[in-house]
Amino acid sequence: MTEKRLSHAYMLLAPEGPARDEAARRLAAALLCPAAEPPCGICRDCRKALTGVHPDVIHVGRERSDKDLRREILVGQVRAMTADAVLAPNEAARKVYIIDEADRMNDRAQNALLKALEDPPGHACFILCAASADALLPTVRSRCVRTGEETLRRDGAPALTDLARAYLEAAASGDMTQVALCCMSRAKLSREETEAFAREVKAAVCDILCGRLEDPGLDRERLFRLDALMDKTQDYLRHNVQPKQIFGLLAVETLR
Ligand SMILES: [Zn+2]
Repeated sequence: MTEKRLSHAYMLLAPEGPARDEAARRLAAALLCPAAEPPCGICRDCRKALTGVHPDVIHVGRERSDKDLRREILVGQVRAMTADAVLAPNEAARKVYIIDEADRMNDRAQNALLKALEDPPGHACFILCAASADALLPTVRSRCVRTGEETLRRDGAPALTDLARAYLEAAASGDMTQVALCCMSRAKLSREETEAFAREVKAAVCDILCGRLEDPGLDRERLFRLDALMDKTQDYLRHNVQPKQIFGLLAVETLR
């Protein structure tokens, strides 16, 4: 991922869960990032893709019928996706389709996807997330670059997600020293990185509240306070307060 030699189809093989979701977001960021060494982690496309709000990153997954999730991803969904893939991107140079649980596509759906993989619209990329490649047709498999979460973690984006997570864990510990050390080690972040850090923390808070991310031991009230604190951080950045001062403030305010 350190050079701009990107394929238009990836198979992300990892057990289902937040780590795989995050790996998919990083890969999507890498595909959309205009930097020479994507993902830079700080440009608009990276930040939006990493926090899951990029309009050109589209998720396709099992649909609900009544209350339950359907057992499979249906051919109609894949056709709708490939029809959408023909349309130009909204903001980025590409459009990324993340197929969550690609191993849930039935054969008809996979064959419909195959057409798009064989002759993709120039700007469309596909990320097929699956626990293993076994449930995918050999023809689909052969069209995809295989990748796993370890590869992505090793040469992926700056570990902003990890920084945000460590901060939340420090906050959950309730230990003033741990929080202070954590904040001080971030005081060297640039303005852009601090902005991205605040976004990451907000995204993680949201994920924890929605049950998408494991709760490190923060109650709801604390989570809302941290969210508000990150709003404040973004506000300070807009008013040209330096990251060093902001993290100094966070060291004091986080446990208050
Ligand atoms: Zn970027």
